[in-house]
Amino acid sequence: MKHVVGFSGGVDSQACLWWARQRFGDDNVIAMNSDVGGHEHPITTEFIKQFSETVFPVVQVTPLVRDLGTRGTRPGKTRDRRQEFNEDDVLSFDRLAYIKQRFPSRKAQFCTEHLKLAPQRRWCDENLRENDIEFERYAGVRCDESNKRADTPDRTWDDYFNCWINYPIRCWTKQECFSVLKKAGEEVNPLYRMGFGRVGCAPCVNASKGDVREWSARFPEMIDKVRDWEESVGKTFFMPLVPGMEINWIDDVVKWSKTAHGGKQPMLPLIEVEADAGMCSSKYGLCE
Ligand code: SF4
Repeated sequence: MKHVVGFSGGVDSQACLWWARQRFGDDNVIAMNSDVGGHEHPITTEFIKQFSETVFPVVQVTPLVRDLGTRGTRPGKTRDRRQEFNEDDVLSFDRLAYIKQRFPSRKAQFCTEHLKLAPQRRWCDENLRENDIEFERYAGVRCDESNKRADTPDRTWDDYFNCWINYPIRCWTKQECFSVLKKAGEEVNPLYRMGFGRVGCAPCVNASKGDVREWSARFPEMIDKVRDWEESVGKTFFMPLVPGMEINWIDDVVKWSKTAHGGKQPMLPLIEVEADAGMCSSKYGLCE
């Protein structure tokens, strides 16, 4: 029996992996990361590489066009656009948006399925199931993350992977994840120390106002990337973030992210953020 842990480069999945290794032993655990079609920040990519080389090996999977599955094969523009590529071409984040003619959003979060889950399922099928190796999956989901996750069970059957999925750290707080890893002597993704709440995609389509502000102040090249994608796809990257927000192109979102509550008054975070760039401003109390 193998125990497969999804590893995103964030602290929750890292804590979940630590738990699985203590419980089942390193030989029985597989850590797996999907590179999300190249949409991770280079700091996260480098962190995962270092982690894999020095702490625990991480299996890296890359999404391919065929990870779109049977969806997108119905007649219409999506199928036409899919046919512009080979099935074994890399499915980058912007290519996914181009084929789907829109970016994913909180309500249509197809990025998670096609860029993270499907490539991992493909790997499990090819490397475990086809060799008759049983496996269960583990995810670093916590109940206090959101109302939606408040009732996360201990384990449940996962039809998508056709195996059990377990949530061993569901009752942990974010701070507990940091504490456990610190005690274990494991480094965490440096982006936390810079104040980011989410470290998966750069930026995530669900990024908070504060995260957008941090990306634009510290890594404006991530905003440039999104601006280029918006131009080639012809759609906005973010859904309207506040009621009544009509123009939602990336530069407007960045402008809005620098305003105080209500989106009208300017505040000074850009200057503050730029001034303390490099200092620990994490909201998780990482600064000692
Ligand atoms: S981190 Fe955000 S953008 Fe990336 S796959 Fe998940 S939901 Fe999509």
